[in-house]
Amino acid sequence: MNNIIVYCENENGKVADVSLELLTKGRHLAASLGCRLDALVVGANLNGIEKEIFAYGAGQLFMADDIRLVPYRTLPHAAITASLFKEEQPQIALFGATPVGRDLAPRVSSALESGLTADCTSLAIGDFADAKSGVLYKDLLYQIRPAFGGNIIATIINPEHRPQMATVREGVMKKEPLPVPVEGKIKVLDTAKYLRDEHFVVSIMERHVAERKIDIKDAPIIVAGGYGVGSREKFNLLFALAKVLGAEVGATRAAVDAGFADPARQIGQTGVTVRPKLYIACGISGQIQHTTGMDQSGVVISINTDPTAPINSIADWVVEGDVAEVIPQMIKAYRENAK
Ligand code: FAD
Repeated sequence: MNNIIVYCENENGKVADVSLELLTKGRHLAASLGCRLDALVVGANLNGIEKEIFAYGAGQLFMADDIRLVPYRTLPHAAITASLFKEEQPQIALFGATPVGRDLAPRVSSALESGLTADCTSLAIGDFADAKSGVLYKDLLYQIRPAFGGNIIATIINPEHRPQMATVREGVMKKEPLPVPVEGKIKVLDTAKYLRDEHFVVSIMERHVAERKIDIKDAPIIVAGGYGVGSREKFNLLFALAKVLGAEVGATRAAVDAGFADPARQIGQTGVTVRPKLYIACGISGQIQHTTGMDQSGVVISINTDPTAPINSIADWVVEGDVAEVIPQMIKAYRENAK
């Protein structure tokens, strides 16, 4: 059966986290299908990058190593990716829903007339019986994502065209290296075969890379605030609690829109996905667009004045009360009881 290919974004010889998450997911999908997981890296000075890729289970690495491929530009990357897919005929191709993936994947799917589902929150393998035609499609990729403003979870399939293509946002899938890396093969691509002068009509004059100042994605404890916190000033209480717990502060979109917190702290469908060991939800109602970004958390504590708030149904502990009163008590109790 044809392979699964993960397009692996890379910068300075390091594979992006989202690509490692997709390799992990791809490995499980490949096991269900009984096919091989492959990776594609496009860039320059890629020697050694295979170590990371093979540690995540790719059996074959397609490597397009050419100084002209850095920094990323749409046309050369799309030409290489689409041409490789034509040759390899993968059944599934996965991309990160990053600025690069969101630019590249639609180009490639359009060139191959394959279709694409953006921003999937889950991927699985399953069958589909078309009631109208009576055809049974086996082992399709279920491309699962929120739809209609997050009010429903849609499972999208692509029965006829290949590859079945999807983008997935960073943090949605788990990143798990194998205990022992696979002994994969490297296939160096002859870039001259794929690239033409016209692919380089766009020149990059200057490039500024800013480090992410706030990164809550991997925090083991998150104190998250919603609109119920009430103001930017009251959000300082959350920062105070986070400080004593060694936590990060997250927020709902309503809190971000109200100016209570920085957009980089937004958790949910249009923010980041987190899975901390402890999630303290302060003044958060628990709409699906928020919970989709945190429902994999270990323990959830909800502090809310409304005992019927939907977040309480997924919380392990509920504190009914005003955040402005409860949080100072939590800080005091923690300080008194922590050694
Ligand atoms: P509210 O729903 O207003 O809830 C406030 C809560 O605070 C209530 O439960 C209330 O009882 C409680 N409260 C009030 N006062 C206090 C107090 N003093 N002490 C304790 N509790 C109190 N939302 C996200 O979070 N992330 C996303 O990524 C996201 N993406 C979206 C994408 C789309 C396409 C759409 C349509 C919406 C999206 N939303 C997202 C918005 C989402 O639908 C909700 O509007 C939002 O999550 C609500 O935020 P909230 O819980 O802070 O506010």
